[in-house]
Amino acid sequence: MMNVEKIRADFPILKRTVNGKPLVYFDNAATSQTPQIVIDTIVDYYSNYNANIHRGVHTLSQEATDKYEEARIKIQHHFNAKNAYEIILTSGTTHSINMVASGFASLLKKNDEIIVSALEHHSNIVPWQMLCEKTGAILKVIPMLENGSLDMKVYHNLVNKKTKLVFCNHVSNALGTINPIEEIIETAHKFNAAVLIDGAQATPHIKPDVQALNVDFYVASAHKLCGPTGVGLLYGKQEWLEKLPPYQGGGEMIDTVTFEKTTYAGLPHKFEAGTPNICGGIAFGAAIDYMNSIGFDSIAAYEEALLKYGTEELLKIEGVKIFGTTAKKTAVISFNVGTIHPYDIGTILDKLGIAVRTGHHCAQPIMDFYKIPGTIRASFSFYNTKEEIDIFITALKRAVNMFS
Ligand SMILES: *Cc1c(COP(=O)(O)O)cnc(C)c1O
Repeated sequence: MMNVEKIRADFPILKRTVNGKPLVYFDNAATSQTPQIVIDTIVDYYSNYNANIHRGVHTLSQEATDKYEEARIKIQHHFNAKNAYEIILTSGTTHSINMVASGFASLLKKNDEIIVSALEHHSNIVPWQMLCEKTGAILKVIPMLENGSLDMKVYHNLVNKKTKLVFCNHVSNALGTINPIEEIIETAHKFNAAVLIDGAQATPHIKPDVQALNVDFYVASAHKLCGPTGVGLLYGKQEWLEKLPPYQGGGEMIDTVTFEKTTYAGLPHKFEAGTPNICGGIAFGAAIDYMNSIGFDSIAAYEEALLKYGTEELLKIEGVKIFGTTAKKTAVISFNVGTIHPYDIGTILDKLGIAVRTGHHCAQPIMDFYKIPGTIRASFSFYNTKEEIDIFITALKRAVNMFS
């Protein structure tokens, strides 16, 4: 069993008040909070060994390089990648997706097909549209069903010999749906299509095994799993990373440079031009250690209980409609109350110290499907409590009374 009070003590921000009330932070799907050990790692880096990596002969540079590469190995083990050089450190999910999309521009031809799911975040739609414009490839969409799951029957009919790439999120950020990525990957591979899974929303709750999944690319952001902003990963199978051209030119990504010809460095450096977020990468490693010290099985079981309790309590309020009702979800509740605008409720909740997200959650196609402007999204983490859900429910009732 998890000791939640002890865990909460690891997060200094949870002690603060907002508008005179204790903070209730239910916007974890947008970004998670940061434990002291990760904050300490950041302070330690800038206080003790701040230096550029991979270039200096001096001690600080060596220490920074060692810690950065140690973090890469932690990330490798966490995701169970075969090789550390298959882990590219990026500025986050959006950056990782754009790297793959831009690389595929040189591998696609007119009328090749790309499949994306209807449940995607904008960062997983726009780069593919740009890629299609550039190459003449055609974008196909796996539609969604009323309960917030993907219509897999249609998917099986969409994949064919022309399919070169399939993109899908592991978990939908707007609804919390856990998608059947094993089935998506296996089917795509029958037609030799590559698969990229956006794990930004899954990784705070699930420990993915990229080799068992046999996925070609898997991407995520540190800031959603207790790490800092501005850092994330692109996992790619070695053969794919070798096939893709470099994303950016610059320092660190070359082997030799002359004005006649430049040869590129090997993996992972080919994709890591310029000075990276060194401190962020090291702190990402510390965040992964922290999450594993709690344990993903405990996290999943605890969050499942919060989700069940929150859903039951919410449905007792008249007029509540929850969007995304599949059996397999993470601790995200996206909902509306009658015809009250989500923003109005979000504003009142903030006055009462409660942080939720309102709006389209960067997933406008889902909102269009439900014919709504947006939802209120309460997303829980392992450091939230049932008592906080009670505070939220009471505050929500107050807000609803004000508008009805
Ligand atoms: C947050 C999120 C992103 C974008 O991540 P950034 O860290 O902003 O690059 C992409 N996809 C999903 C599913 C997300 O939840």
